[in-house]
Formats: sequence, structure tokens, C-alpha cells
Amino acid sequence: MRERGADHARVMAHAKIHRDRSIEASDLAALSGRTIAVLGFGNQGAAQAANLRDSGHAPIVGNRDDEYATSAAEEGFDLRSIADAAAAADLALLLVPDEVQPSLVAEQVAPGLRDGDTLVVASGYNWAFGLLEVPAGVDVVMVAPRMIGAAVRDRYVDRHGFPCFVSVERDATGRAWDTTMAVARAIGGTLGGAIVSSAREEAALDLFSEQAIWPAVLDVLRTAHRVAVGAGFTEEAVLNELYLSAEPAEVFAHIARDGLFGQLGLHSRTSQYGQLRSLAALDEHGDLATRFGRVMHEDILSGDFAREWSRPDAGERLDTLRREADATPLAVAEAEVRARLDR
Ligand code: NDP
Repeated sequence: MRERGADHARVMAHAKIHRDRSIEASDLAALSGRTIAVLGFGNQGAAQAANLRDSGHAPIVGNRDDEYATSAAEEGFDLRSIADAAAAADLALLLVPDEVQPSLVAEQVAPGLRDGDTLVVASGYNWAFGLLEVPAGVDVVMVAPRMIGAAVRDRYVDRHGFPCFVSVERDATGRAWDTTMAVARAIGGTLGGAIVSSAREEAALDLFSEQAIWPAVLDVLRTAHRVAVGAGFTEEAVLNELYLSAEPAEVFAHIARDGLFGQLGLHSRTSQYGQLRSLAALDEHGDLATRFGRVMHEDILSGDFAREWSRPDAGERLDTLRREADATPLAVAEAEVRARLDR
């Protein structure tokens, strides 16, 4: 994985957060006179292109000739092929899926980039793992919304904004920071707070969440199902208790709003006592911490996972894992219960 660049001296234990009260009052000067291209008109592309336009810019849209392209044209954008848009622009937002980016940049984007241009990525993965070949005189910056595309648009329109991670990955021009902040502002990213980060940090935390936290949660649910059904309780009762009722989703919403422990007040005193006495009995430096540490250092930061996922047969392996997951006792029981409950 790439080491931190000079700009990452900005990232301390407490990250700096840039926040604007309004887009109208914010500094977009670094974008004035620049030709902007949005490459890819999918979830993020459609939203960011519309936000850029409403912030006073006229982005060109680059897309393959299909229904995404049709909707870009219907919305009045200057639509071109990805290669033509990249060549026409001096600032390109790369908004195609991560797995497509390495070959697309090499074949269609990089040939159109010139010294002094800027390439903006919305996720750190490919840059952090050295999978993007970008000409040396081109600035590479990250403006990564922590929000799905539809909400990037809605929260720009209602001025609520959304958080995003920003970083300068390569400052060839000496002006990359101002450009980064102007892009973040123009898409609405400073209304919710632009957190100074790095491609390395963004990618590592994303992968850590996917490879450590969520597998642990899935394992907890799978084990709980096995133990509770083994104790003689019905699938309907067990699965509703675990997640079909959507109660965990409510709890997570309250964790975000009221705090990890602040939300405990919403539970009965019996529940609070049970949760806290069991948590106190767990060893926070035990097996889970060892496993999480291994995932972070040996799988992610070492680059092993990225190398494995770049192999040509990785997609087939994913398909096999999906089939195996769908055949587990929990998944089979869940399908039956859903059918019976008409969910
Ligand atoms: P989408 O899957 O929605 O984007 C699809 C776009 O990429 C479409 O315009 C599609 O065009 C084009 N595309 C797909 N495959 C190819 C290809 N082989 N060649 C050319 N164009 C192709 O992506 P997202 O908007 O979800 O993601 C874009 C970036 O934003 C990624 O880096 C992602 O990590 C990041 N991001 C995404 C978030 C999200 O919530 N979705 C949140 C934050 C960041 P076509 O019509 O041709 O298929």
C-alpha cells in the first residue's frame, strides 16, 4: 500500500475538518475557467454532475453509449465518450466503479491528461494500492463522499450536505489543495464537513470495515442462530429476534444519534444490566482484537488483499463464496421464514 505523501502531515490524531455554512458563500475560485469532466454518470456521477452545475459550473459528461448516457443527454449535459471528455477537460472526476478504473484510466483517461490537469477520485482504493497509472504532471486528489449518490444530490438540494474525506495525493502544480477544496465545496461536501484524510486511510478503513467488522457481525448472527435453534427455539422466533424485525437497525440508528452507550437508556433496566455485565466479562484484548489486528496489518496494509482481488479468477471465487453463503442453514431457514411471513 502507498505510504503517506507529504500532504498527509496534515493528518494528525485529530483530523482537520473544513465546514462551510453555505455553498454560495464558499470559495470556488480554484475552479474558475477550468473545464470539468464527470467520467461515469452512475450513482455518484449523476449526482455530482448535477451539483457541480447548480454550483455554477458546466461539466462535460463522459459515458459509454447506453441508458446512463441517454439520461445525461436528457438532463442537458454535454455528453461525450469517456476518452473525449477526459481529453477536453483539465479537471476530471473519475466516477466509474473501482474495479473498472485501472484499465479505463490506462486506456481512455490517461492519454487525454496533460501536465497541470487534475484527476479527482471518489474512493482511495486504486490509488492507495498503486493500481492507477496517472502521468507525472497531473495532480491526483480525493473527494470521497460518505454518502450514496442519490443522497449526495438530495442533501445538496436541501443544503444539509454530507460528510466527505478529502486529500491531496499528488501535488504536481502546487495548487492541488485549493482545487480539492473547491471540488468538495462545489459538490456540497463541505456543508456536512470535509474531513482531511488520505487515500490510504479511506481505503484501509473501508476494507477494515468490510473484512473485520462486518464478518464479525455476520458470524455473531450465524452463531447466535445455531445456538438458539439448537436450544429448541423456532426459526421464526429466533430470526425475528436476531434481525428480521429490523430492531437492530433501530438500535444502530440510535447509536449514531445518541451514542454507543447513550442509547442504552432506551432499553429496559434488565436489558441494560444484561448487556453491560456481559460486555464487562469480555476480554477486549482477546481473540477478536488479535483477529482484527491481523486483518488490518497482514491482509489490508500489506497489500495482500488487493493483490488477491486483482487476480483474474477473483470474480469466480466471489461467485462461489456467494453460492456457499446462500446454502448455509441460516440462509435456507431465512428464505423459508420470509416466504411464510410474506416478507
Ligand atoms: P456506478 O456503478 O453507479 O457507476 C457506474 C458508471 O460507470 C456508469 O456511468 C457506468 O456506465 C460506468 N461504467 C461501468 N462500467 C464501465 C466500463 N467498463 N467502462 C466504462 N464505463 C463504465 O458507480 P458509483 O457511482 O457507485 O461509484 C463511482 C465511484 O464513486 C467509485 O470510485 C466508488 O467507490 C465511489 N463512491 C461510491 C459511493 C456510492 O454510494 N455508490 C459512495 C462514495 C464513493 P455504463 O452506463 O456504461 O454502465
